[in-house]
Amino acid sequence: MFPGPGDSEFAFELLVCRWAELAWHPAEGRRPAVVARQLGTRDRRWDTVVVEVDPDAFAARRAFGEDGLDSDLLRVVRGAPAEWTWYRDALDDPGFPWRYVREAIHRAAALDLVEKRPGANGRIEFRRVREYPDWVERVVAVENKPDLDASAARALADQLRHDVEAGLADEVWVATGATGERVSPALLEDMPVEVGVLEFDFADGVAADAGEVVWHPTTLRADGDPRRRLLLAERAYGKGWRSFRETMRPDCRHFELRRRGRALVPYCAAKGRVPTAAECKGGCPSFSPEPPGWRTNGWPVEGGPGKGVRALLERRRERERERAGE
Ligand code: SF4
Repeated sequence: MFPGPGDSEFAFELLVCRWAELAWHPAEGRRPAVVARQLGTRDRRWDTVVVEVDPDAFAARRAFGEDGLDSDLLRVVRGAPAEWTWYRDALDDPGFPWRYVREAIHRAAALDLVEKRPGANGRIEFRRVREYPDWVERVVAVENKPDLDASAARALADQLRHDVEAGLADEVWVATGATGERVSPALLEDMPVEVGVLEFDFADGVAADAGEVVWHPTTLRADGDPRRRLLLAERAYGKGWRSFRETMRPDCRHFELRRRGRALVPYCAAKGRVPTAAECKGGCPSFSPEPPGWRTNGWPVEGGPGKGVRALLERRRERERERAGE
């Protein structure tokens, strides 16, 4: 059953992300996808973002590096011509001073994303190293509400209506925890009918069959700004859902990674539960640095358990990216 005693919305969110990595799509069979958490636009942040990818194109995208490309780099990389060209001839007028574009070209060249050279009259010329592929198939937003009751459903309704109308996502879902009873249709009354509802039973942790579709979503017309969609997909690619490894404190002696079925989630031995991202940080009153001895002898990973946890989560991310491009 989820939520269990002491489990937070954050814990639920991690399990949903891991499940999506294993089993997306819930109704239409396995699709390769990249999963990220806590991403969005200025007006709206989504708990889980699933970017369905074209495997070949995604494998080609990976050649552009492990980080997400920001809007300036995307402009340069996507506009880079096959032959040496003065950058102002190759790119559309950005609507802001060209010097910012020049800076982005220098940055892109330093990252080996494009090549540049001084051309005639000192004009900067550039060309592509490889073509930027069309790797994003669909963008799906998932709102996680482990304890969806009538008032939570009502509170969510407006946000979900905004998600449906924003033109960024191809599908919108609400993910909720199984309570032992089916989600009552009355709960769904206030929600836009286009939004799908998924119910999860994580009693035994994450398994591919942990999610059940209660209500199927409608495919939306994702006709909003395609550039914003691509930017969102790039950020999802760069961030993933294990980014808690950067913000939480695996270097605390109480920090552990615990298995919940096929998921590894953070666990705080001092609190006896999954800590939230907000509490597991430098200011945590129970923080206790791992003893120096852990960092030297007797620990199989150089740098101690904290570093080891970060490296492990990084490897997991890499493994899942490889799977999506197969
Ligand atoms: S004691 Fe605080 S910093 Fe240490 S693992 Fe627990 S929540 Fe994180």
